[in-house]
Amino acid sequence: MAAFVRERYLSTPRSRVALERRQRRLLKRHLRYLRAHSAYFSTAPLDPERLHELPIADKATMMAHFDDMSTVGIARDEAMTTALASERDRDFGRDIDGHSIGLSSGTSGHRGLFVVSPGERARWAGTMLARTLPRGRSLLAHRIALFLRADNSLYESVASRAISFEYFDIYRELESQVVRLAAYRPTVLVAPPSVLVQIAAVGRRLGLDIAPERVISVAEVLDELDRARIAEAFGVAVVHQIYQCTEGFLGHTCELGSMHLNEDTVLVEREWLDDGRFVPIVTDLVRRSQPIVRYRMGDVLVAGGPCGCGSALAVVERIEGREDDALVGRRTDGSEVTVFGDQIVRAMLFVDGLEDFRVCQTGADEVVVRVAPLTDVTGRAAREELHGLFERMGCTEPRLTVEGFVPDLGTKQRRVTREWDHDEGM
Ligand SMILES: [Zn+2]
Repeated sequence: MAAFVRERYLSTPRSRVALERRQRRLLKRHLRYLRAHSAYFSTAPLDPERLHELPIADKATMMAHFDDMSTVGIARDEAMTTALASERDRDFGRDIDGHSIGLSSGTSGHRGLFVVSPGERARWAGTMLARTLPRGRSLLAHRIALFLRADNSLYESVASRAISFEYFDIYRELESQVVRLAAYRPTVLVAPPSVLVQIAAVGRRLGLDIAPERVISVAEVLDELDRARIAEAFGVAVVHQIYQCTEGFLGHTCELGSMHLNEDTVLVEREWLDDGRFVPIVTDLVRRSQPIVRYRMGDVLVAGGPCGCGSALAVVERIEGREDDALVGRRTDGSEVTVFGDQIVRAMLFVDGLEDFRVCQTGADEVVVRVAPLTDVTGRAAREELHGLFERMGCTEPRLTVEGFVPDLGTKQRRVTREWDHDEGM
């Protein structure tokens, strides 16, 4: 509740100077705590200016040093056993000494193991509510519907006597879930974008009126193809996003529709890929049980300009997906050029009649395109659009194989992937 009030009613820093001052203060306190409670960080520098001396971590580092990093003495094997048991029977009530344990997918591709203390969980819930619920109506009047694939216990902690909350299981047959959703009349609908698209389609087919005030996309990259469809289907101007993964609650959409990084509690270093794209390296300034320090996300973000809402929190124009969610093209001189997932999605927007697609690079010059529905028209148009894109990027044209495909709601949707490692191919 304290977190809710702070987020909702006290302003977040309005200037970068104030924000950075706050970050330094939190980081100093956090480093002191980690040195005292985590074996891994026992020799970490105390000076916030020397944060860069700590190594950059990735998922493999986190798993390898899980036990040493923990400040609450939870071992990886025990946590993994607990998380897998929860996943198997889809009962997420288990904990270790009150700590929530889970496997999370988040926006990032690989699964991560998370540990959250009761206090962190409560703060998370408060921050989440404050940052995502529409303003201008009593909190008591909100009905939140959640469609989630993996662990939902963190989201369930948002539920309270004050706010009604209903969980829908993606693994069950969707039609009955959508009927129940319509009867629930949600004010807020939370789901992965691929599921939001399906909910809209089922609702339309059954003639159901599903009109939440706010639609929030989670767990998958919200690309332009889905964003436009979701906005139209639910009649909302802005499709909100929660940028959240094992590593923390990293970003949210403001009232004006801009995605802001939650820099008031997370420090974001930027590894620039080009003028606008960067990979975030995050340090959570308040999460103690499982320290997240200089963690390289592997997501590609596109920096945005300042937002009219007045917040000093940096704007992200869009999340493009994982670094792997991109193809590697080749110029005639043999040099490589990255064709980002977002560029492919934007090209495919021009394919008439296309409902969904996947593009996967399977070799240096091999790309498999799967389209739904596959007809003469969609197949040919997909081929032409991709050829056009490769040409504009100055790449030689890859061999395109066009196939049909059937979407599966049970798995995380990634439209553009690379199953070929260009280092091995050279
Ligand atoms: Zn804003």
